[in-house]
Amino acid sequence: ETISQSLRSTVQKFGTREALVMVTQNYRATYAALWEQVEQVAKGLLAYGIEAGDRVGIWSPNRYEWVLVQFATARIGAILVNINPAYKTNDLQHALQQSQIKLLIAAPRFRQTDYVEMLEQIKPTCAYPEQTVVLEWDWQSFLDAGKSIRTEEVEAVENSLQFDNPINIQYTSGTTGFPKGATLSHHNILNNGFFIGEILKYTELDRVCIPVPFYHCFGMVIGNLACITHGACMVIPDESFDPAQVMQTVQDEKCTSLYGVPTMFIAELDHPEFSKYDFSSLRTGVMAGANCPIETMKKVQQKMNMQEVTVCYGMTETSPVSLQSLPDAPLDKRVATVGTVHPHLEVKIVDPETGNILPRGQQGELCTRGYSVMLGYWNMPQATEQALRNGWMHTGDLAVMDEEGYVQIVGRIKDIVIRGGENIAPREIEEFLITHPAIVDVQVIGVPDAKYGEEVMAWVKLREGHDITPEHITAYCKGKISTYKIPKYWKFVDQFPMTVTGKIRKVEMRAISTKELG
Ligand code: ATP
Ligand code: MG
Repeated sequence: ETISQSLRSTVQKFGTREALVMVTQNYRATYAALWEQVEQVAKGLLAYGIEAGDRVGIWSPNRYEWVLVQFATARIGAILVNINPAYKTNDLQHALQQSQIKLLIAAPRFRQTDYVEMLEQIKPTCAYPEQTVVLEWDWQSFLDAGKSIRTEEVEAVENSLQFDNPINIQYTSGTTGFPKGATLSHHNILNNGFFIGEILKYTELDRVCIPVPFYHCFGMVIGNLACITHGACMVIPDESFDPAQVMQTVQDEKCTSLYGVPTMFIAELDHPEFSKYDFSSLRTGVMAGANCPIETMKKVQQKMNMQEVTVCYGMTETSPVSLQSLPDAPLDKRVATVGTVHPHLEVKIVDPETGNILPRGQQGELCTRGYSVMLGYWNMPQATEQALRNGWMHTGDLAVMDEEGYVQIVGRIKDIVIRGGENIAPREIEEFLITHPAIVDVQVIGVPDAKYGEEVMAWVKLREGHDITPEHITAYCKGKISTYKIPKYWKFVDQFPMTVTGKIRKVEMRAISTKELG
């Protein structure tokens, strides 16, 4: 099936039900209205000369137009290129050029950044985009241009599309380096969205609060595609994440499901007015994107009424999800692992050196194979060849699988601290430290050390009003975690260097700390 076929059948079944709500834009649409508006945008694209296979960029925070563009490009087979709303000129230029964007749909601004000004700045050195439509400014004239196009013209293109055509270039988060453009087909992301929705038991009665960015697969697949394949409603609280706004939205919109990366849930739980909000409508949700601390999972379950909360593991290159905990899995498995393999996919854990499959219980590199694996990185044949071997996506993540098939993510292979020949997974130390009542969040890295090669360092975010010393935490660790794992260095911070998807940039933390420690 193509994405438009799937949306069409949902519209036929659930046309009168609410499909999309954007709170701060004061926007609401039923599935029938959404279809209507998607069609207008598709016509606009055709009027602007966009053909199947052309790249259409979207550079915008979460707005309702984002969703319209997502489905309009899918209807006419244009390849949607998701551009990170936090990009500054260099990254922007890289993405525009790398994917040769024919038409860019851009928000006028986001937070402090004037997008239009930035586009003017890069114009002299960048041949792309060929055309730009600025939301608010040009949107109406763009839609008006589409009025010259007949519905049959849209349908003719739509009917010529194949489910395995590329439909989307999603840039990876750039946690480890320059973002790479994962090229994905209808089949890749639509099916992944469908299975995610199945596991979450979505129906047309569900209302899913999506505070994660659409530009990332968490928003547009785990969010939008899981919803549209089940007739559920996408509820967008705001352009970007604000914990109070999210909780208010869950309450007001009676959301049944809530998404977030761990740092978002931590910010909500830690909010001074947390107890004021009503979470009784919530049932399920997804925590994903980075290590989900056991403590946080438990709190979300107990204090936010997300009885059936699940954890997803995935990466942009695999549409994204390849492992997910089932809502009825035993609680200990659900909080401490990323669950089991998704339907119709294979995972294996291999020795990163030899590529041989390892026995259960042994740590190695996680690999994924199946329908969800990307077509490749856009215009990066070498990187594609390295990542994709015999159909297996090599994730770069270290993992271990137990006898029952539950997988635990140990960390990124590159983040493992090697201290005096001993491999230390930062995650284990983070899981322990976050149980300290004064610690809100903590990230552990390795820093260079003359004697041991690397030493363990912890960056700690303290709870408001708490003031503890390195000596105090060190004493707290003694006898509870192995001595060699107790961080030698401590740094107290208000926040961590983060990607806009809410991932901690440990590469940057290491660079900062290496410099500071001299
Ligand atoms: P880049 O590839 O550009 O460096 P990135 O890997 O962060 O950035 P994404 O595709 O957004 O880009 O993220 C995928 C990665 O996120 C995975 O490889 C894994 O390291 C991490 N991840 C995702 N979900 C989980 C999870 N539930 N637990 C632990 N780690 C996770
Ligand atoms: Mg990656």
